[in-house]
Amino acid sequence: MTIIQAAQSLSQRVAILGSGISGSSAARRLAENGLKVTVFEGGFGAGGRTSTRFTRDEHQYQFDHGAQYIGSPKTKDFEKALLQWKSDGFVKDWSDGNFFTAKADLEVRMDEKKDRFVGYPKMSSICENLLKHENINLVTQTQARASLDGEGKWKLIHGKTKEDVGTFDWLIASDRNSANGRRKDLSSADVKDFATSVRKIKPVKSLTAMVVFDKPLDIGMDGVLFEGENYGSLGWIARDSSKPGRERDDGRECWVIQTNPDAAKALLEGKESLDEIREIAKTVLVDDLLKVLPSLKPGLEIPEIQESMGHRWGAAFPINTNTEYAEMDSQIFESKKFVACGDYFGKYSGRIEGAYLSGISAADQLINATT
Ligand SMILES: Cc1cc2nc3c(=O)[nH]c(=O)nc-3n(C[C@H](O)[C@H](O)[C@H](O)COP(=O)(O)OP(=O)(O)OC[C@H]3O[C@@H](n4cnc5c(N)ncnc54)[C@H](O)[C@@H]3O)c2cc1C
Repeated sequence: MTIIQAAQSLSQRVAILGSGISGSSAARRLAENGLKVTVFEGGFGAGGRTSTRFTRDEHQYQFDHGAQYIGSPKTKDFEKALLQWKSDGFVKDWSDGNFFTAKADLEVRMDEKKDRFVGYPKMSSICENLLKHENINLVTQTQARASLDGEGKWKLIHGKTKEDVGTFDWLIASDRNSANGRRKDLSSADVKDFATSVRKIKPVKSLTAMVVFDKPLDIGMDGVLFEGENYGSLGWIARDSSKPGRERDDGRECWVIQTNPDAAKALLEGKESLDEIREIAKTVLVDDLLKVLPSLKPGLEIPEIQESMGHRWGAAFPINTNTEYAEMDSQIFESKKFVACGDYFGKYSGRIEGAYLSGISAADQLINATT
């Protein structure tokens, strides 16, 4: 790269829609290459589906209510990143927990040991740390809308207040839902080909309940995967307080319960009101857990529930029937200075690893295009 090319590349201002793993990884890669990046996040904090939910009371109960853990890396690139995150101290090992599978025939079997890593001291620590860089500006609670002006620059406004939030040379969209017909994030962005094609990816929905027991739940299990129809709506439960950094000194325990995909689909059928959906998530999942617990450990004394909450994931995982996305890690539209990334790309879609690889690929494509 010549000195002039390097200077041209560094003078590019980049906006990223979304602070999940893909957006945060892209931001970090660009920042480490000297580019100035602004990351817009519609939610209260960084993380997207790896965010952590806290109660706003004096107890500060915490739950990884989305992604549960990072499994064994499938690629050398992600393995290297994970090693770095561990050495930087914001990812730790959860592999020594006791994990079980409740089989369709009601047999409950202990799983073989396998790698499970989690953000430390919370899942959202991963994105929060990736975004800690002098070249990155994180703007939360800002669902941004983007449009291209006559000079080919990206103009961004705040979706609610319509306030101008900046002008940028490049735009990275890290969430395919930005192109959803019901949202206006990209409706004036003139990226119709992308929007049409990305709408073909169907989402798997999921419901989560977060539960606090007043004493430890004495089942000797930190995570259970449920298979088949014998366990009602249950897909997975985890003793969140057993993850590193989540230990509590008040003797209480936080658990996360997640639906299996068929149950989530059936429970959400015809439901629109978010309050109603959250209530269903909470009551159905907690009831099913209480019914199933005695089969996991006969004679178990179930502690009192102090608190419970429900959450809906409208697009928990992508179902990618479009092979085009499976064959690339990100997509660049160079004439528009627009790059798309997210966990719907690549071989490892629907996972943290896939989202990471996509974010890195988006950043690399942008850097290559500017030099
Ligand atoms: C219940 C559940 C369990 C899971 N379990 C696991 C697991 O155990 N292991 C695993 O590897 N993966 C798991 N996953 C999948 C994993 O969480 C995702 O693959 C990954 O986190 C996706 O990252 P992403 O950056 O592609 O998208 P997201 O995390 O969805 O990030 C996109 C972000 O963009 C923001 N955004 C969108 N548009 C705008 C805009 N216009 N302006 C500002 N912000 C915007 C959104 O608010 C969101 O924060 C799970 C997911 C769910 C929901």
